[in-house]
Amino acid sequence: MRNISKIKHAKFSLQNGLCFYCRQPMWRRNHERFAEQYAISLNQARYFQATAEHLVARSDGGLDVAENIVAACWYCNNHRHRAKQALSPDRYARKVVARLRRGKWHGFLAQSTPFHQSS
Ligand SMILES: [Zn+2]
Repeated sequence: MRNISKIKHAKFSLQNGLCFYCRQPMWRRNHERFAEQYAISLNQARYFQATAEHLVARSDGGLDVAENIVAACWYCNNHRHRAKQALSPDRYARKVVARLRRGKWHGFLAQSTPFHQSS
């Protein structure tokens, strides 16, 4: 197993399986069971795959070390790096939480009660 994958699994456990940014549950192996558990579609479940997120991107010199890697859902990970200039982890986390509160992140979750919004 690659080091980065080991770190991701360790962080997943440390974070109780919740995304570093949006604090929603994630899955590692079985997205079908996840979809069933939360009554969402398989396509929706794909957004919640646990990924290794580099706080400082590799392209900016970020290393594959535990201090620089957190577990984040696919959706948050992708959206952060889609921006021309990625926000810092702190600013991005605040943006995600603010949008989540307004129902503008993982939009379909508003109707899916098992998902909670932690404050
Ligand atoms: Zn997330």
